Amino acid sequence: MNGVKAKALGCLYQQLKSLRSPARPCSLAACSRKNRNAALHPLWQSPLTIPGGTRQSPINIQWRDSVYDPFLKPLKISYDPTTCLHIWNNGYSFLVEFDDSTDRSIIVGGPLENQYRLKQFHFHWGAINDWGSEHTVDSKFYPAELHLVHWNAVEYPTFEEAVMEGNGLAVIGVFLKLGARHEGLQTLVDALPAVKHKDTVIEFDVFDPSCLLPSCPDYWTYAGSLTTPPLTESVTWIIKKKPIEVDEDQLEAFRMLLFTSDGEEEKRMVDNFRPLQPLMDRTVRSSFQVRHLLDTEAQPQGHAEQVRP
Ligand SMILES: [Zn+2]
Repeated sequence: MNGVKAKALGCLYQQLKSLRSPARPCSLAACSRKNRNAALHPLWQSPLTIPGGTRQSPINIQWRDSVYDPFLKPLKISYDPTTCLHIWNNGYSFLVEFDDSTDRSIIVGGPLENQYRLKQFHFHWGAINDWGSEHTVDSKFYPAELHLVHWNAVEYPTFEEAVMEGNGLAVIGVFLKLGARHEGLQTLVDALPAVKHKDTVIEFDVFDPSCLLPSCPDYWTYAGSLTTPPLTESVTWIIKKKPIEVDEDQLEAFRMLLFTSDGEEEKRMVDNFRPLQPLMDRTVRSSFQVRHLLDTEAQPQGHAEQVRP
């Protein structure tokens, strides 16, 4: 698990170069925004919006406005832990990447018409616990959000092509809230010091990310976009209703990572999320019946409306 893997890096850079994006590869990068102390991150030097975009992400999920769809199926997840390859600090988040050359790690069902292959997962988080998630629920932020990125290998020959198509990607979003230490996440947290700097990669060869999913099957789904350039409107979002719990030390380990390379002035990797986008003419569907007032357990923690930096 030690040592930079030159071969893996070479492969990733090939992937980068092959993309039509002017900046980083869409879902391979995590999202960004201007943060308080720093200039605009290089990721966002390309346009911040898509002119004419009608299904941009992230959005605020208004619980009472979501529509129960009894035809939504349960989401079936089948991940092979041995498809896990490595962890990469891409200067925006850390990506845990998987071998997606076969159908060994897939999701099927839910709102999806095809099965989708797992490509990578990453997180977005804040400088403090009051914000950090990309999506919000009833305008409340969680301190972090996990994104598991999958692509439609039934209809498209490559991930890069799927990125450009309306039904090309499926991303599972999971909110992280403050609570008990998450044992499954800890394996990952223990590896993070080795990818502190931008452009470092380590082997991480056996990991089952289904341990990061809440056991509750309930989710919201809507048609959206990547939250990083090229911001293509290619994502079927599946946002789990229930958050998972992580502890303060685990979030702090995320915040110890750096946006910067070895030798540069250190900039902490925090607030790597995109601002909310307008819902426009979209409906958020839920796989569960609304029990808003009763279901306080699933509500985000916190007091009054929280405001981002
Ligand atoms: Zn993301």
